[in-house]
Amino acid sequence: MQTVKKLKQDEKKVVVAYVKLKLKANRLSKELDTMKQNIVDCFERTNQNLIIAGVPADQKAVIEEIARNHGLIDDKDTEQRKNSMACVALPTCPLAMAEAERYLPSLIEKIEGLLTKHGVPNDSIIMRVVGCPNGCGRAMLAEAGLVGKGPGKYNVYLGGNTEGTRIPKLYLENVGEEVYLEAFDKLIGQWVSERNDGECFGDFVIRKGIVAEVKVSVTDFYA
Ligand code: SF4
Repeated sequence: MQTVKKLKQDEKKVVVAYVKLKLKANRLSKELDTMKQNIVDCFERTNQNLIIAGVPADQKAVIEEIARNHGLIDDKDTEQRKNSMACVALPTCPLAMAEAERYLPSLIEKIEGLLTKHGVPNDSIIMRVVGCPNGCGRAMLAEAGLVGKGPGKYNVYLGGNTEGTRIPKLYLENVGEEVYLEAFDKLIGQWVSERNDGECFGDFVIRKGIVAEVKVSVTDFYA
């Protein structure tokens, strides 16, 4: 494995680069985890990104190559795939009431199909699926979060933001794929045709009153 030089504190003043990695299922390979412990500064974000900061310019390519070799940078990934995440759920977690990690790839393909149908194949919605309300895959900070209620059934929450600082609100309760895909078809079509410049899906559904904004979670979430 290639190594990355660990910077001394005073060397960090001259660093010029950073590397942003999208973590699939929020997991690091063992080698990359070791690298993370031995180099510069790492920041894990509210979304599933890892920012490796304070990287000297001549080391950036080394880090990117290591990440690429471990599947953390993959040019074939769509934006929707990069912005989707799930918890482990079945069969690993005894609390799971519905599929999450095993279901996510097929859900992403269907959402990608809807984005393509509406002419925006390179756009994305921060989408998360979890097997129960504990929400380990952070569905309750997503623009669109699916929370397992039973086999094949989910609550659908809408209205988080791209920064991961806003809680979404219940939009559909205890529904199956046919129902929520039909809803996403309509909502994506509406978003594409009526959004403001650069307006993300979560901001759009709030501006349009599709769901109310959760400003104070203790009072607004169940209101
Ligand atoms: S969200 Fe629920 S099902 Fe998913 S890992 Fe956490 S406890 Fe398990």
